[in-house]
Amino acid sequence: MGRPATARINIDALRHNYRIAQQLSAKGAGQVMAVVKADAYGHGATVCATALADIASGFAVACIEEALELRAAGIKQPILLLEGFFEPSELAMIDQYRLDTVIHHQYQIDALVAHPCKHPIRLWLKMDSGMGRVGFAPDEYRKVWKQLNDLSFVKDIVLMSHFACADEPDSEHSQQQLTTFNTYTHGLPGERSFCNSAGLVALKAARGEWNRPGLLLYGVSPFLQAHGIRQKIQPVMELSSAIISIKAIPAGSSVGYGSQWIAHRPARIGVVAIGYADGYPRHAANGTPVLVNGYRVPLVGRVSMDMLTVDLTDVPEVQIGDRAILWGDDLPVNEVAQGAGTIPYQLLSNLNRVPVEYHGILIPDHLHEVEI
Ligand SMILES: *Cc1c(COP(=O)(O)O)cnc(C)c1O
Repeated sequence: MGRPATARINIDALRHNYRIAQQLSAKGAGQVMAVVKADAYGHGATVCATALADIASGFAVACIEEALELRAAGIKQPILLLEGFFEPSELAMIDQYRLDTVIHHQYQIDALVAHPCKHPIRLWLKMDSGMGRVGFAPDEYRKVWKQLNDLSFVKDIVLMSHFACADEPDSEHSQQQLTTFNTYTHGLPGERSFCNSAGLVALKAARGEWNRPGLLLYGVSPFLQAHGIRQKIQPVMELSSAIISIKAIPAGSSVGYGSQWIAHRPARIGVVAIGYADGYPRHAANGTPVLVNGYRVPLVGRVSMDMLTVDLTDVPEVQIGDRAILWGDDLPVNEVAQGAGTIPYQLLSNLNRVPVEYHGILIPDHLHEVEI
């Protein structure tokens, strides 16, 4: 079997979380577009999309390469390109594979005018309501909406925007964004889409016909602070490995690169076979929790490329070969992210090298028949 590091993906949990997102969306009479960009945040996009194919209303990805992977896997639902297309040459494939695309800039409109689609297309017109990244300024939104609406092959235009601070549930900025969006889309026909995971959970007034949760589907709370949603969702990924060495060291001796951690008492140090090349964050601070046999033990010393070290002094029963969970059911990835000064998104999508094992309901049979 070899190296014990493994990422275990619980498909039942994924489906459970999708249904939670659906219930939240339905309160605003909306549907859920499952965000599976970046290989489904490290969980495997084709497997996750396939596992949701009988219940999901659509999927969202970052680029056409990701979308074509899903079409090749037999996904028939709408697939949305969240950043739109980068070059006019993508339009022929967008048309052929019936993809939805975000329109966030005039150069994309010019390309559409120059390369009309053969099939009716649904566009998602993005307003920059306060994110300060991509999208049309509120005061030019109506004008570009009209340009698109005048194109004969444009079937629908979804009115769309994106939150900058939804991870703080009481953010004034989010309220401001919503007000801006509502003001400048007032009277325009079409479905609306504003919510990412955090918006869907916390900003009821922002729920629209389409919501676009990502992180929530993977069972991770999108909020910086503790939030009740944690109890409703189930973590999909468990990253684990095993203790491969234990040794006693005297007080005053150091552990790891840079000799940066020093034992202040005689200590028992365990080595876990996982490191930053697997996606465990190198910047995780001393004290970041690791779950060994159900005990939370502190990370000590710098994380190496293939290994990390934990202080087992207070859990003498732990032995070589015992499992160590880096994140999963009883250890939210949010806590590890906090220990590393980052966010769960980065940790999940950085997963590397570890074999991924899938558990739970898997691929419906009919989806194996694929034409592309
Ligand atoms: C990534 C992304 C989402 C999903 O965000 P989560 O915080 O993971 O729910 C939604 N909308 C857009 C435009 C995105 O880029």
